[in-house]
Amino acid sequence: MTKRSKRIKFLSYGLFFYLILALTWWTLLLIVKNNDALNAKIELIKIIAIANNPEISEAQFLEQANVVKLNHDYTRQRNMIIGEATVFIVLLFIGIFQINKSFNREVDAANQQRNFLLSITHELKSPLASIKLILQTFLKRELPKEKKDDLLKSALTESNRLENLVNDLLLSAKLEKAFIPHFEEIPINMLIEHSVFTLGNSHPLAKINLNLPEDDLVLSTDKEGLYAIIKNLVENGIKYNINIPEINIVLTDEPKPQLIISDNGVGIPDGDKTKIFNKFYRIGNEDTRKTKGTGLGLYIVKEFVAALGASIEVEDNSPTGTKFIIEF
Ligand code: ADP
Repeated sequence: MTKRSKRIKFLSYGLFFYLILALTWWTLLLIVKNNDALNAKIELIKIIAIANNPEISEAQFLEQANVVKLNHDYTRQRNMIIGEATVFIVLLFIGIFQINKSFNREVDAANQQRNFLLSITHELKSPLASIKLILQTFLKRELPKEKKDDLLKSALTESNRLENLVNDLLLSAKLEKAFIPHFEEIPINMLIEHSVFTLGNSHPLAKINLNLPEDDLVLSTDKEGLYAIIKNLVENGIKYNINIPEINIVLTDEPKPQLIISDNGVGIPDGDKTKIFNKFYRIGNEDTRKTKGTGLGLYIVKEFVAALGASIEVEDNSPTGTKFIIEF
């Protein structure tokens, strides 16, 4: 949240607090004045009553029809004042709550846009700049074969990075508007084993452990969606890690089918656990962040999980890292 947003929030809370105090004060004052008016009227009636009948007792006086009516009117007026004040305070609370909610939404949208611009600009510009530099080097100089191969490999890595970015952008747009899952009966054990094999090849330094039920679990699900979920969660566990990455994938069938993917990485602070699934959300400050990324991975995971009719939860892993639990 920017300083200006914080100031506006602080001012609005101050105003709200003042309104509540002022309302309480005016309500109490009105009740006291109402009471004073009642007492004055009763005193007047009492003087007249004593003038008419000097022997009249206090009990007889209080039972007089005009005194009973006066007391009744006063109680009704006091209840009206308290009722009005309560309705006003409730409406004020609802109003402030709604304003606060839309203010937070505006701030989130502004942050999202800022994150989008910063991360996409960076993720687009740096691979393009590297590829351009490599091509310029090829044009200017005659290079030995080894050097050429190295540069070609780098260019390929950078173009893969660009391709992944474009794929993620297109996929997230598709998930928002036009994605219809293609449900089919899939032996999940095989799909997980296949995904781990592919991911293991692209991340040879990571250790990926599998714990699958002996009998093949068959679920009606969408292959592309489930693969994207596993890929994003496993790659994040490897990327946000300062140890030798170790990922555990557990599939259970009891009481419901669950896929648990946990890592030994840096973990996710409690305050960020609900935000990480937002589009373009990345933990920390975009200017100081070192890992590459766009904040689209977990958004894609969340959208696929919803499309498959499943649910996802995130917890701390023990002793370190993060655990994602998907229930089908
Ligand atoms: P990206 O990896 O492109 O930044 P994601 O949507 O996949 O985007 O993740 C959002 C943010 O959540 C990441 O920037 C990272 O800070 C945090 N995060 C995601 N997965 C993990 C994890 N397994 N361990 C620690 N932090 C994570």
